[in-house]
Formats: sequence, structure tokens, C-alpha cells
Amino acid sequence: MNIQDRNKVFIDRSKLLDLLSRKAPEQSELNEILNKALKLKGLNLKEVAALLCVEDEKQISEIMDAAHTVKDEIYGKRLVLFAPIYTGNVCCNNCTYCSFRKDNHLIKRKILTMDEIAEETRALLRQGHKRVLLICGENNKNGTDYMCEAIRTTYGVKERGGRDYVRRINVELAPMETEDFARLHEEKIGTYVCFQETYDSELYKRYHPAGTPKADYEYRLTVMDRAQEGGINDVGIGALFGLGDYRFEVLGMMEHANHLESCYGCGPHTVSIPRLEPAVGAPDAEHVPMPVSDENFKKLTAIIRIALPYTGMILSTRENSEMRNTLINYGISQISAGSRTNPGAYAEDEKGTGSQFELGDHREMEDVINSFIDEGYVPSFCTGCYRKGRVGEDFMDLAKPGLIKQYCLPNALFTFKEYLEDFAHEDTRNKGMKLIKRMLEEYDQKQLIPKIEKNLADIESGQRDIYF
Ligand code: SAM
Ligand code: SF4
Repeated sequence: MNIQDRNKVFIDRSKLLDLLSRKAPEQSELNEILNKALKLKGLNLKEVAALLCVEDEKQISEIMDAAHTVKDEIYGKRLVLFAPIYTGNVCCNNCTYCSFRKDNHLIKRKILTMDEIAEETRALLRQGHKRVLLICGENNKNGTDYMCEAIRTTYGVKERGGRDYVRRINVELAPMETEDFARLHEEKIGTYVCFQETYDSELYKRYHPAGTPKADYEYRLTVMDRAQEGGINDVGIGALFGLGDYRFEVLGMMEHANHLESCYGCGPHTVSIPRLEPAVGAPDAEHVPMPVSDENFKKLTAIIRIALPYTGMILSTRENSEMRNTLINYGISQISAGSRTNPGAYAEDEKGTGSQFELGDHREMEDVINSFIDEGYVPSFCTGCYRKGRVGEDFMDLAKPGLIKQYCLPNALFTFKEYLEDFAHEDTRNKGMKLIKRMLEEYDQKQLIPKIEKNLADIESGQRDIYF
């Protein structure tokens, strides 16, 4: 491993701009790249740059087809669901695109108490959620002590006589020091998520005014190094699409993934692709500086999928249902459902506090689940790998030879069955049961079927939290 490169800036702006100044690839070059992608080995930076320069419609559809094959081969028809809990919207930064920015006086501010966090957790558990993302603005009151307590509070909530509880907490928080990460690690967080927003250091200055902690590009860029040093192996990266050239941001994420892989032996656990949404009191969200069209958004999703085949890809409710239903076929493996982005929104329907941005998908969780069932996807609440210690490099060792299928589909079926038993209305339940039956008929690991069927029967008779 490349220890000397740890904590160093790994983005060479002119190198990336140079890579993007090339012409679109000829068909022969494209074929070569896509053939490599179909071997599930991922792509290098130059190959990704070539794909990003494709503009011909037919060639784009070839990239999409390759992404569809890669997605299906590695992840199958399964989709992991989660929901965010916004613990506060007070922020000391002034990001020009976010409603939580400190100079925005148009929203009401709030930091949840531990009791309120417990209420939010209960409300999500009652919808059937098992995976939660804790998220907030940056300020002293939302520091590490608060977050550690928030994590303990969230894990501590038990519903229906102890049958329902949050099984995995991921956190999306401002960059911090290695010691803080060590503390979060002790509280048993899953993934630490932080978006670079833009990997372009010049643009970064424009959106993050000097004098705020977030203005420090390098400190944010090296945050995953500190997370790794603090013991957190699962990290999630992302860029906020709409701030810069989307092609540059994709190359930036590739460089980030390469950096983590070479320094720590394992790339990011997830990549998120948030797209800038309208936000009250945030000038750069009202007039998006470099909008990414729907077509380019689909293309970039497909390119990331084939470039980093074993990295989970997350899409939030920023996108509308149509886009979400499309992108699950080309790369997305995790999706939020029934989300609200204002603190206290689940328990209180707290419309008074300010939300971070406008949602594209307002549907309740069961409606989202219904539409995924209709698309033939199994909604999964699985947390098996994390709880069995299959994280970071261990997860990748497991995932790369294709073993992921042996664990992930059965575990998805178990958690989906629990959902159908405990939370679904009858029509959803009937549709869901048919989907489980069909998935088992199509499942190629026939030797596992008796065990899977036994577990499904145990769930039907009341057992919970069973996983491989
Ligand atoms: N405050 C922390 C930070 O900035 O890292 C925690 C997360 S912040 C609440 C979550 C993310 O929301 C930001 O990293 C940014 O990418 C995204 N975001 C901010 N404003 C947005 C907008 N108008 N539309 C879509 N996403 C936005
Ligand atoms: Fe604060 Fe994060 Fe919003 Fe920036 S993006 S204003 S840091 S909450």
C-alpha cells in the first residue's frame, strides 16, 4: 500500500482538464473499453475520460447497455433502502447552494434533542426502515459528543416489544479529525459519508466563501484518509452535480477511489450522485451554475457503474420517481425512501423547520416499495455484511469473485419478507410474495434454496433479524 501518499492532495486539476480535452472515441476504442468493462474489472482514468467524451446517441446507448449488464451481473435485482434523519439545520458555513447556510434567514432553525431523535427513529421504524443516515449542518452544538449520543440514542430505540430497531447507522457529517472518527467507530457506525461537492479547486472557492471551515478544500479532500486512520473502513464519497462540469466531477471521484484503493487497499464503499435541487435562500440552487441534463445524468451514472463495478451507488429523493426507476437499471444499488430533509419532520410533520432542498420524490415508503416491486426489484433492508464484519477490504475480497450473490440476494429476501409480514398492506404483501417466489425460481445457487426457504418460513412464524 502506498503509505507515503496518504493525506495528500490527489487531484491534479490540469491533468483532468487535459484528459477531457480529447475527441470522442472512435467505435473501435469504445468497443475495447466496453469489452473490458463487461469483464467486471473496472476502468482506468483515461478510459473513463474517453467515455465521458462520447456524445453520439448510439454510442451512449451502448454504454448504457454495458452498465445494465454489469449492474445485473453483480447486484442482481435488489435495491437497498434507507432514510435520512436530519438532526439539525444550524450551520456555520455559507455554501452558496444550501438552505442551511448561516446567512439564510428565511428558514427556521432547530437542533433535535435526544428525545426528538428517538421520536424520529420510532417514526421511521414504524414505516419499516432498518437503515438510517444521520445528517446535519456543521456547528459546535452538533459536534462529536452530540453525534455519539445521537448514535447511541438511535440504536437504543426499540419498537414493538424489541422486535424493531435500527440495524445500521451511517453518518453524513462535516470533516473532522482522526480522533473524532475513532469515537464514531466505537459507536459502531456503518459508513462515513461526505461529498467533496466539487473536485475543481477553483470552483470550490467560489461556492464556499473564505472564513468558513468548509472553505478549506484540502481538509475536505483528505477527510476519508482521516476516517480510515480512525478505523472507519467503509467510506462514501460524492460530488454535487450542477456546480461544475459533470465530466470533471466523475474523473475527480475516480481519482478519489484510486487514491483510497492505493493507500488503504480498498476503494469507497459507496459513491453518491446528488444533483443540485432548488433550495430556499440559496442563490446557486435557484440558478444552477452548470446544470446536468437528464440524459447526461443517466450517462454519468452508467459510466460510474462500469468504472467502479463493486462500489455501491446511492441515489436520494432529490430525484423524481421516474428518474429513480430508470437509474436502478443502470447503476444505482441504494436508494432513500420516504425521506424528509427538515429536522423533526417524521415524528411531528414539522413543516415549520427549514428543509435543506426541495425533494423530487415525496412518496411514502410503501409507495416507493410498490413501484420497485413492479419493476421486478427486491427492496432490501439488509445489514448482514456490516454486522458480520464483512466491510472495507474484506467486503471487496468477497464481492469481487462474485460471492456477493450468495449473501446479498438471500439476505435481501429475508429482510423484504420481514417488511411484508410486519408493515405492508395486503395488496403489497401479495405482490411481494409473488416476487420472492419468482426470485427463488430464478436463483442460480440452487444448493442454498432449502436453507433460504427454511429462513423464510421461520420469519413467517415470527423470527426476526436472520441473515447469512
Ligand atoms: N453539512 C455537512 C456537509 O456539508 O458535508 C453534512 C451534509 S449536508 C447536510 C448534505 C449534502 O447536501 C451536502 O454535502 C451537499 O452536497 C448536499 N446539498 C446541499 N445543498 C443542496 C441542494 N440545494 N440540492 C441538493 N443537494 C444539496
Ligand atoms: Fe452547511 Fe453542509 Fe449546507 Fe454547507 S452543505 S451550508 S456545510 S449543511
